[in-house]
Amino acid sequence: MAYANWIHSSALFHAAFPTSSRRRDTLSSSFRPATSSDGRPIFSSNYQYKPPAVAVQAQAKRGFSLKKEEETASAADMQFEAPLKIVLYPDPILRAKNKPVATFDENLKKLVDEMFDVMYKTDGIGLSAPQVGINVQLMVFNPVGERGEGEEIVLVNPRVTRYSKKLAPFTEGCLSFPGINADVVRPEAVKVDAQDITGEKFSVGLSGLPARVFQHEFDHLEGVLFFDRMTAQVVDSIRTQLQELEQKYEDRTGLSSPEKIETRKRWKAAAGFGRS
Ligand SMILES: [Zn+2]
Repeated sequence: MAYANWIHSSALFHAAFPTSSRRRDTLSSSFRPATSSDGRPIFSSNYQYKPPAVAVQAQAKRGFSLKKEEETASAADMQFEAPLKIVLYPDPILRAKNKPVATFDENLKKLVDEMFDVMYKTDGIGLSAPQVGINVQLMVFNPVGERGEGEEIVLVNPRVTRYSKKLAPFTEGCLSFPGINADVVRPEAVKVDAQDITGEKFSVGLSGLPARVFQHEFDHLEGVLFFDRMTAQVVDSIRTQLQELEQKYEDRTGLSSPEKIETRKRWKAAAGFGRS
């Protein structure tokens, strides 16, 4: 993710990652929690959300695919060139399948270092491997977005085991959509199983800003982009900007855009917030 109107609790974040290597007790001014007049975080809204009918199908599909053996990433899949470049919408790399990481070696550590590097350089607070052209299940984030501050989180092969019923709207940006910021409704909290950079498995509960960043990046690992989750009305507000990115892709590559916002006949969510 690139942008934040974040309202977040650093306490929750620290609680979620007690073993992290870096600690910070104060928030930078741009990440100060916003509160309503009664002092409660605005983030805890009572937004009513009805999941679209397609969610059931999406879940059923995912459930089915999990029963099959997943092909893991090969050494070739993990190859990269530094400095990494951000893949922009509508590049089909952003919709491609991301393989699980099976080898926890020096190359993976170097890739993670380079991902943090490009994330900080582009003022991001989260980045997924497909966004740098590597189609594997890997994400990095640091909600403070400054090198040496906040927490550097690396999640390999993450799975969501639980979504909170409570949902909240939030303004998100994405490094693959430069200049676009718009509201996305997501569950406020998630429970996640993942592996760390050494391959060790762990579970973690996330809420507030870390839950938001995680879900945005996790969507990338599923080939879901943030505008897939926006309401038709919100998409209308960024339609022109999406079309500009599509045009730039065509000018840059000489290819026709692999997807066009204009040809989506009926707006629907790409996936539900079910178990995966
Ligand atoms: Zn993104």
